Amino acid sequence: MTATDPSDDGALVLFSGGQDSTTCLAWALERFPRVETLGFDYGQRHRIELDCREQLRSELGRLDERWESRLGPDHTIDLAALGAVSETALTRDTEIAMAADGLPNTFVPGRNLVFLTFAAALAYRRGLRHIVGGMCETDYSGYPDCRDDTIKALQVALNLGMERRFVLHTPLMWLDKAATWALAEELGGRPLVDLVVEDSHTCYLGERGERHDWGYGCGTCPACALRAKGFAGYLARRGA
Ligand code: ZN
Repeated sequence: MTATDPSDDGALVLFSGGQDSTTCLAWALERFPRVETLGFDYGQRHRIELDCREQLRSELGRLDERWESRLGPDHTIDLAALGAVSETALTRDTEIAMAADGLPNTFVPGRNLVFLTFAAALAYRRGLRHIVGGMCETDYSGYPDCRDDTIKALQVALNLGMERRFVLHTPLMWLDKAATWALAEELGGRPLVDLVVEDSHTCYLGERGERHDWGYGCGTCPACALRAKGFAGYLARRGA
Protein backbone atom coordinates (compact mmCIF):
# COMPACT_ATOMS: atom_id res chain seq x y z
CA MET A 1 0.00 0.00 0.00
CA THR A 2 1.40 3.42 -0.93
CA ALA A 3 0.88 6.57 1.05
CA THR A 4 -1.91 7.70 -1.27
CA ASP A 5 -3.90 4.49 -1.12
CA PRO A 6 -6.89 4.32 1.18
CA SER A 7 -6.70 1.61 3.80
CA ASP A 8 -7.76 -1.81 2.57
CA ASP A 9 -10.27 -2.53 5.26
CA GLY A 10 -12.73 0.37 5.28
CA ALA A 11 -16.13 0.29 3.62
CA LEU A 12 -18.79 2.86 2.72
CA VAL A 13 -22.33 1.50 2.43
CA LEU A 14 -25.03 3.25 0.39
CA PHE A 15 -27.70 3.16 3.06
CA SER A 16 -31.20 4.40 2.29
CA GLY A 17 -32.99 2.66 5.15
CA GLY A 18 -34.73 0.17 2.86
CA GLN A 19 -34.66 -3.63 3.04
CA ASP A 20 -31.86 -4.05 0.51
CA SER A 21 -29.48 -1.47 1.91
CA THR A 22 -30.08 -2.66 5.48
CA THR A 23 -29.11 -6.18 4.42
CA CYS A 24 -26.06 -4.73 2.65
CA LEU A 25 -25.06 -2.87 5.81
CA ALA A 26 -25.19 -6.09 7.85
CA TRP A 27 -23.20 -7.82 5.09
CA ALA A 28 -20.51 -5.12 5.29
CA LEU A 29 -20.43 -5.12 9.11
CA GLU A 30 -19.77 -8.85 8.98
CA ARG A 31 -16.80 -8.37 6.63
CA PHE A 32 -15.07 -5.05 7.22
CA PRO A 33 -13.62 -3.73 10.49
CA ARG A 34 -14.55 -0.15 9.63
CA VAL A 35 -17.92 0.69 8.06
CA GLU A 36 -19.44 4.10 7.37
CA THR A 37 -22.87 4.80 5.88
CA LEU A 38 -24.13 7.26 3.28
CA GLY A 39 -27.66 8.44 2.57
CA PHE A 40 -28.90 10.75 -0.17
CA ASP A 41 -31.57 13.35 0.42
CA TYR A 42 -33.29 14.24 -2.84
CA GLY A 43 -36.96 14.73 -2.11
CA GLN A 44 -39.82 14.39 0.33
CA ARG A 45 -40.99 11.00 -0.90
CA HIS A 46 -37.82 9.47 0.43
CA ARG A 47 -37.88 11.28 3.75
CA ILE A 48 -39.37 8.29 5.57
CA GLU A 49 -36.55 6.01 4.44
CA LEU A 50 -34.03 8.58 5.63
CA ASP A 51 -35.79 8.81 8.99
CA CYS A 52 -35.51 5.03 9.40
CA ARG A 53 -31.76 5.11 9.01
CA GLU A 54 -30.60 6.18 12.48
CA GLN A 55 -33.01 3.75 14.13
CA LEU A 56 -31.72 0.91 11.96
CA ARG A 57 -28.08 1.79 12.62
CA SER A 58 -28.53 1.69 16.39
CA GLU A 59 -30.65 -1.48 16.26
CA LEU A 60 -27.98 -3.23 14.18
CA GLY A 61 -25.41 -2.27 16.81
CA ARG A 62 -27.63 -3.74 19.52
CA LEU A 63 -27.87 -7.05 17.62
CA ASP A 64 -24.13 -7.68 17.59
CA GLU A 65 -21.34 -6.11 19.69
CA ARG A 66 -18.84 -6.66 16.91
CA TRP A 67 -21.05 -4.82 14.45
CA GLU A 68 -21.47 -1.99 16.93
CA SER A 69 -17.70 -1.59 17.30
CA ARG A 70 -17.28 -1.52 13.52
CA LEU A 71 -20.00 0.96 12.68
CA GLY A 72 -18.56 4.41 12.06
CA PRO A 73 -20.06 7.77 11.11
CA ASP A 74 -23.16 8.29 9.00
CA HIS A 75 -23.10 10.80 6.14
CA THR A 76 -25.94 12.46 4.25
CA ILE A 77 -25.49 14.21 0.91
CA ASP A 78 -28.12 16.63 -0.33
CA LEU A 79 -28.98 15.84 -3.96
CA ALA A 80 -31.89 18.22 -4.38
CA ALA A 81 -30.91 18.60 -8.04
CA LEU A 82 -31.78 14.95 -8.64
CA GLY A 83 -35.22 15.52 -7.13
CA ALA A 84 -35.65 18.55 -9.38
CA VAL A 85 -34.94 16.42 -12.46
CA SER A 86 -37.60 13.90 -11.45
CA GLU A 87 -40.16 16.65 -10.76
CA THR A 88 -39.55 18.15 -14.17
CA ALA A 89 -39.87 14.77 -15.82
CA LEU A 90 -43.35 14.26 -14.35
CA THR A 91 -44.78 16.55 -17.00
CA ARG A 92 -43.22 14.67 -19.93
CA ASP A 93 -44.71 11.97 -22.12
CA THR A 94 -41.68 9.68 -21.78
CA GLU A 95 -42.15 9.61 -18.02
CA ILE A 96 -45.77 8.52 -18.34
CA ALA A 97 -44.66 5.66 -20.58
CA MET A 98 -42.11 4.54 -18.00
CA ALA A 99 -44.68 4.68 -15.22
CA ALA A 100 -46.84 2.30 -17.24
CA ASP A 101 -43.97 -0.20 -17.07
CA GLY A 102 -44.34 -0.31 -13.31
CA LEU A 103 -41.46 2.01 -12.46
CA PRO A 104 -42.13 4.73 -9.91
CA ASN A 105 -42.82 8.05 -11.56
CA THR A 106 -39.95 9.61 -9.65
CA PHE A 107 -37.54 7.39 -11.56
CA VAL A 108 -34.41 9.28 -12.57
CA PRO A 109 -32.40 7.70 -15.37
CA GLY A 110 -28.87 6.86 -14.28
CA ARG A 111 -29.57 7.65 -10.63
CA ASN A 112 -27.17 4.98 -9.38
CA LEU A 113 -24.36 6.41 -11.49
CA VAL A 114 -24.79 9.68 -9.61
CA PHE A 115 -25.04 7.93 -6.23
CA LEU A 116 -21.93 5.82 -6.74
CA THR A 117 -19.92 8.74 -8.07
CA PHE A 118 -20.74 10.81 -4.98
CA ALA A 119 -20.06 7.76 -2.81
CA ALA A 120 -16.63 7.35 -4.39
CA ALA A 121 -15.83 11.03 -3.86
CA LEU A 122 -16.75 10.66 -0.17
CA ALA A 123 -14.88 7.34 0.13
CA TYR A 124 -11.84 9.06 -1.35
CA ARG A 125 -11.95 11.76 1.31
CA ARG A 126 -12.65 9.25 4.11
CA GLY A 127 -9.90 6.81 3.03
CA LEU A 128 -12.35 3.96 2.43
CA ARG A 129 -11.63 1.45 -0.32
CA HIS A 130 -14.80 -0.61 -0.47
CA ILE A 131 -18.14 0.77 -1.63
CA VAL A 132 -21.21 -1.36 -1.04
CA GLY A 133 -24.57 -0.92 -2.78
CA GLY A 134 -27.82 -2.88 -2.99
CA MET A 135 -28.09 -2.86 -6.78
CA CYS A 136 -29.70 -6.00 -8.11
CA GLU A 137 -30.39 -7.30 -11.60
CA THR A 138 -32.71 -10.09 -10.63
CA ASP A 139 -35.85 -8.25 -9.61
CA TYR A 140 -35.27 -4.88 -11.29
CA SER A 141 -35.26 -5.42 -15.04
CA GLY A 142 -36.46 -1.84 -15.51
CA TYR A 143 -33.36 -0.20 -14.08
CA PRO A 144 -30.38 -0.38 -16.45
CA ASP A 145 -28.18 1.39 -13.88
CA CYS A 146 -28.62 -1.60 -11.54
CA ARG A 147 -27.04 -4.00 -14.02
CA ASP A 148 -23.82 -5.78 -13.13
CA ASP A 149 -22.13 -4.54 -16.30
CA THR A 150 -23.08 -0.94 -15.46
CA ILE A 151 -21.54 -1.23 -11.99
CA LYS A 152 -18.38 -2.92 -13.29
CA ALA A 153 -17.96 -0.25 -15.99
CA LEU A 154 -18.46 2.48 -13.39
CA GLN A 155 -15.85 0.89 -11.11
CA VAL A 156 -13.33 1.16 -13.94
CA ALA A 157 -14.35 4.76 -14.68
CA LEU A 158 -14.13 5.81 -11.02
CA ASN A 159 -10.76 4.15 -10.53
CA LEU A 160 -9.38 5.84 -13.63
CA GLY A 161 -10.98 9.20 -12.87
CA MET A 162 -9.95 9.30 -9.21
CA GLU A 163 -6.69 7.34 -9.40
CA ARG A 164 -7.79 4.85 -6.77
CA ARG A 165 -8.48 1.13 -6.44
CA PHE A 166 -12.06 1.21 -5.25
CA VAL A 167 -13.96 -2.05 -5.17
CA LEU A 168 -17.71 -1.74 -5.78
CA HIS A 169 -19.54 -4.55 -3.99
CA THR A 170 -23.12 -5.51 -4.86
CA PRO A 171 -23.92 -8.50 -2.64
CA LEU A 172 -27.55 -8.63 -3.82
CA MET A 173 -26.82 -8.51 -7.56
CA TRP A 174 -27.90 -12.09 -8.34
CA LEU A 175 -30.36 -12.63 -5.49
CA ASP A 176 -34.12 -12.44 -5.80
CA LYS A 177 -36.08 -10.83 -2.97
CA ALA A 178 -36.67 -14.14 -1.22
CA ALA A 179 -32.93 -14.82 -1.25
CA THR A 180 -32.28 -11.32 0.13
CA TRP A 181 -34.47 -12.14 3.15
CA ALA A 182 -32.58 -15.44 3.48
CA LEU A 183 -29.27 -13.56 3.37
CA ALA A 184 -30.44 -11.40 6.28
CA GLU A 185 -31.19 -14.56 8.24
CA GLU A 186 -27.78 -15.99 7.37
CA LEU A 187 -26.05 -12.80 8.55
CA GLY A 188 -27.98 -12.08 11.73
CA GLY A 189 -30.48 -14.86 12.31
CA ARG A 190 -34.17 -14.24 12.87
CA PRO A 191 -33.42 -11.13 14.98
CA LEU A 192 -32.02 -9.42 11.86
CA VAL A 193 -34.98 -10.55 9.75
CA ASP A 194 -37.33 -9.15 12.40
CA LEU A 195 -35.37 -5.89 12.49
CA VAL A 196 -35.61 -5.52 8.69
CA VAL A 197 -39.35 -6.26 8.80
CA GLU A 198 -40.00 -3.80 11.61
CA ASP A 199 -37.66 -0.89 10.89
CA SER A 200 -36.70 -0.82 7.22
CA HIS A 201 -38.82 1.01 4.68
CA THR A 202 -39.46 0.16 1.03
CA CYS A 203 -42.85 1.60 0.01
CA TYR A 204 -42.71 4.10 -2.87
CA LEU A 205 -45.66 6.00 -1.43
CA GLY A 206 -44.01 6.41 1.96
CA GLU A 207 -46.85 4.72 3.84
CA ARG A 208 -46.18 3.23 7.27
CA GLY A 209 -49.74 2.85 8.50
CA GLU A 210 -50.50 -0.82 8.09
CA ARG A 211 -48.20 -3.56 9.44
CA HIS A 212 -48.06 -6.65 7.20
CA ASP A 213 -46.01 -9.79 7.98
CA TRP A 214 -43.29 -8.36 5.69
CA GLY A 215 -43.35 -4.91 7.31
CA TYR A 216 -45.04 -1.55 6.75
CA GLY A 217 -46.25 -0.13 3.46
CA CYS A 218 -49.22 0.53 1.19
CA GLY A 219 -49.11 -3.08 0.01
CA THR A 220 -49.89 -2.31 -3.62
CA CYS A 221 -47.09 -0.16 -5.10
CA PRO A 222 -44.41 -2.08 -7.07
CA ALA A 223 -41.92 -1.89 -4.18
CA CYS A 224 -44.41 -3.24 -1.62
CA ALA A 225 -45.56 -5.96 -4.02
CA LEU A 226 -41.98 -7.09 -4.57
CA ARG A 227 -41.15 -7.02 -0.87
CA ALA A 228 -44.32 -8.98 0.03
CA LYS A 229 -43.75 -11.56 -2.70
CA GLY A 230 -40.13 -11.96 -1.63
CA PHE A 231 -41.06 -12.44 2.00
CA ALA A 232 -43.66 -15.08 1.11
CA GLY A 233 -41.06 -16.85 -1.05
CA TYR A 234 -38.51 -16.73 1.78
CA LEU A 235 -40.98 -18.26 4.26
CA ALA A 236 -41.93 -20.96 1.73
CA ARG A 237 -38.28 -21.88 1.07
CA ARG A 238 -37.40 -22.16 4.74
CA GLY A 239 -40.55 -24.22 5.29
CA ALA A 240 -42.03 -21.91 7.90
ZN1 ZN B 1 -46.11 0.68 -1.12
